Amino acid sequence: MDVSGKTKVCAVIGDPVEHSLSPIIHNAAFQHLNLDYVYVAFNVRAYQLKDAILGVRGLGIYGLNVTMPHKISIIKYLDELDETAKRIGSVNTVLNKDGRLIGYTTDGVGAFNALKYAGSDPLGKKVVVLGAGGASRSICFTLAERVRELIILNRTLERAVNLANNIREVLGGKVNVRAASLVDENLRKELKDADILINATSVGMKPNDAYTPVKRDFLHRNLTVFDIVYNPLETRLLREAKLIGAKTIDGLSMLIHQGAVSFEIWTGVKAPIDVMREAALRKIEETEKENT
Ligand code: NAP
Repeated sequence: MDVSGKTKVCAVIGDPVEHSLSPIIHNAAFQHLNLDYVYVAFNVRAYQLKDAILGVRGLGIYGLNVTMPHKISIIKYLDELDETAKRIGSVNTVLNKDGRLIGYTTDGVGAFNALKYAGSDPLGKKVVVLGAGGASRSICFTLAERVRELIILNRTLERAVNLANNIREVLGGKVNVRAASLVDENLRKELKDADILINATSVGMKPNDAYTPVKRDFLHRNLTVFDIVYNPLETRLLREAKLIGAKTIDGLSMLIHQGAVSFEIWTGVKAPIDVMREAALRKIEETEKENT
């Protein structure tokens, strides 16, 4: 990689970011396409965010990815938000356009593109989303206008109801969104005729990877099962879905596709999805070897 005085700098900010795959994914893509960009990671604590954004302006950092805990708190330091980021109230990508910081959110469209890329276009389908946290919010807002029916199931019912109401308020009454508790009775009922199941809870994530949010008996082979948890890559939910012959999509796909949209915002060039995924898989494999 040739870094010069003209190289554009992009970065991820968050806390923690030490194990972020974003530098691996983006640097692989920049190198593959011979683009004069470099991507680094900055650990920014919540209280340091204001200074960090002053730093972005002062140093002319060209692009940012924003991860926990800054996705909402960064908004007040930006100059502009694109329509989707405004609707959802969350930012995971920033473009420094001639000194103006513009915020975008690519999480929802990343999930949508991951589904389409895997051949499971959610257009006109019944989709069940588990969880009502930050990731679910971006996904549900993006899918609500495109699907036939969207069911949000969450452990804390109030959060699911608030999210569904909020989607209706913002997108209008034409969207078909319902909320219910994440309990077996609802899972059984809603999954029976569903086309797509998305796990947007943190259930199944390491070190709790022995858990699954859905009993295996409620899955069926006509269901596409998409788990946005990417650590481990194959969660128990995906393993059990595969066993019954259902199509599965892992969390790395969402990570790559949301990264690809950020990449395109910064460079204006189509992202090399396969190169990005290969680089991430190599890194995951290396890390696993180091840890065994
Ligand atoms: P969040 O805002 O903290 O939301 C967590 C969600 O998980 C909430 O709905 C919470 O329910 C639910 N939950 C947590 N523990 C649970 C349990 N034991 N049983 C049932 N539900 C439980 O987190 P987030 O940012 O949305 O992230 C959620 C997951 O998605 C994480 O694993 C994260 O790593 C992953 N993620 C992946 C990508 C990607 O690109 N692949 C992007 C973003 C996030 P309550 O409301 O009841 O607490």
